[in-house]
Amino acid sequence: MAAAISGVLRGAGRRMVDFLMPPACPVTGERIEAHTGLSAAGWGAIHFIDEPFCDHCGAPFAVDYGKGVLCPSCIAAPPAFDRARAAIVYDDASRSLVTGFKHNDRTERAEIFGAWLARAGRALTQGSSPVLTPVPLHWRKRLDRRYNQAALLCEPAAARLGARYESDLLVRVRATRQQHSLSSHQARWENVAGAFAVRGSRAQRVADAHIVLVDDVLTTGATLSAAAKTLKRAGAARVDALVLARVVKGGVGAI
Ligand SMILES: [Zn+2]
Repeated sequence: MAAAISGVLRGAGRRMVDFLMPPACPVTGERIEAHTGLSAAGWGAIHFIDEPFCDHCGAPFAVDYGKGVLCPSCIAAPPAFDRARAAIVYDDASRSLVTGFKHNDRTERAEIFGAWLARAGRALTQGSSPVLTPVPLHWRKRLDRRYNQAALLCEPAAARLGARYESDLLVRVRATRQQHSLSSHQARWENVAGAFAVRGSRAQRVADAHIVLVDDVLTTGATLSAAAKTLKRAGAARVDALVLARVVKGGVGAI
């Protein structure tokens, strides 16, 4: 009975929210049926990332160079994670979708983003029993934002991939500047160096584990690489990265 009443109240609450704030496609602004969806044009505008891409960092290639090929950045300075994969390109079409989720409380998008992450991460987790864990925020930023967007992505993605979810293997021990506020590649890498530590009580869960770090956006890979380095120093056998969106220099499939 209590469950039925609570269901009715939840339904009424949802209808009130829809009345006050009609659902709109976060990509095109068109009216849609539910707050969790996209319009047909919105779906069409999003660039989902499929092969061919760099075997290491997942940067999309314009031409298929064959299996196992690396991009120039990974050849020059290989990131500390083993492989990274991203669901979509971070561009004009996806920007408001991602930033609304990250900064403006549009957390209802976690479910659909989790499905996109699972699609992108399937090849990383096949034949393995990985642990998905989010890139942590510094506690002050977490307090300010009230949620860690990477943790919200992790749970639905882990459920779809049949992987274990650990919310707090890592801790951010140093507050860092916003990566997007730093113009040079070098400054971004220095900003996050030594920013992470394995939480003391979780050390045993990291040793010999296959860990998949989850984050919202990959720009240079510096943050994920610093986090991966920390996990590997603590004995992780393999550390991959799975992100919702990645910046592609020069646009979709630029290399
Ligand atoms: Zn690469």
